[in-house]
Amino acid sequence: MSKILLIGAGGVASVAAHKCCQNSEVFNELCIASRTLSKCDAIKASIEKKGTSTKITTAQLDADNTKEVVAIIEKFNPDVVLNLALPYQDLTIMEACLKTGKNYVDTANYEPKDTAKFEYKWQWEFNDRFEKAGITALLGSGFDPGVTGVFSAYAMKHYFDEINYLDILDANAGDHGYPFATNFNPEINIREVTAKGSYFENGKFIETEPMEIKRVYDFPEIGKKDMYLLHHEEIESLAKNIKGIKRIRFFMTFSERYLTHLKVLENVGMTSIEPIDFEGKKIVPLQFLKAVLPDPASLGPRTKGKTNIGCIFTGKKDGKNLNYYVYNVCDHQECYKEVGSQAISYTTGVPAMIGAMMLATKIWNKPGVHNIEEFDPDPFMENLNKFGLPFKESFKPELVD
Ligand code: NDP
Repeated sequence: MSKILLIGAGGVASVAAHKCCQNSEVFNELCIASRTLSKCDAIKASIEKKGTSTKITTAQLDADNTKEVVAIIEKFNPDVVLNLALPYQDLTIMEACLKTGKNYVDTANYEPKDTAKFEYKWQWEFNDRFEKAGITALLGSGFDPGVTGVFSAYAMKHYFDEINYLDILDANAGDHGYPFATNFNPEINIREVTAKGSYFENGKFIETEPMEIKRVYDFPEIGKKDMYLLHHEEIESLAKNIKGIKRIRFFMTFSERYLTHLKVLENVGMTSIEPIDFEGKKIVPLQFLKAVLPDPASLGPRTKGKTNIGCIFTGKKDGKNLNYYVYNVCDHQECYKEVGSQAISYTTGVPAMIGAMMLATKIWNKPGVHNIEEFDPDPFMENLNKFGLPFKESFKPELVD
């Protein structure tokens, strides 16, 4: 029996909260704390309507303020803190976990508000202090990063002597019926897709222009989609943790309609993160854009179709070449029926709960700051099957050229 403090009350937090409460044998108490208390209360009400034996409480919290996070941790005394606010809060929450001796889990690496540059260095710097305190920080326990790292550890453990190439493919064939909307936090999403692309090859990162590299891939259960090479945060840790890897690329699907809207918004300056003067006030265009776009949490009831996210590995076993594709297909409407969210939040919220469960139950116990592929993948994989994200495998996948 354990207690979990969940910070944030957006799309992903809502799914993770529902999943914690479907897992009452592990989580018998949940506190949902976020900036807007009414959103925490709405999640609590939605779960209680469905029925759970987990005791849920809510609290108002500004997680930019370490002292406030410390105070709530001291009051609630959780076994694990699950950070599902925004990447900007990672460091203040990690600091609070250190001060109180609590395990930490997140799904996205720290990003300074003013540079749109996400990398692990700021969080990896906490390693020695976490190790000394005897507590674990599990970084990137969503789908990508997250399950993609677990898939990598699983491939290394069970199938390969060496992995040489990894392509991570993230397809969303969901249609929400709006001309333009983002499936998760628009500010984070647009910062990610308008940034330069990059991939890892022969020991270095190679930068590309945004959306410069395009491929078409025939995804199982979804069909042919255009996909584009992006920089993605797990490339940085996987390049360190998969010994002998020669190349890692990350591709995400985008429709022509999405890219055309994005281009126009970019051309008129709406995706900029540089503050501008507007009627005597400083505003950040991208934050204003977020305010006028549909709230990702509202897409759930409208989104039809499926996602397919997975990894294609190429390497060697017993001296022979081997290809291995492991992926999950998730249906937007099924997710909505179950927890009232679309598949993007679902595919992130489920692994976030599982990661927190791994630490709360001490199945994973490795003091320090670690990425998810550094742990035993087997118990995580079992729980993916149990909690709604079953994986599928193929040893004859179409490869990406
Ligand atoms: P949302 O914007 O829907 O939710 C973010 C929540 O955090 C909101 O409830 C927000 O409060 C709250 N919040 C923001 N700032 C603070 C603060 N200072 N103090 C307390 N609460 C705060 O985002 P998502 O749910 O879509 O995403 C959550 C996280 O998951 C993000 O970090 C995102 O990058 C990550 N993610 C990871 C993925 C993966 O596969 N690894 C995929 C998708 C997302 P308020 O309601 O007041 O705005």
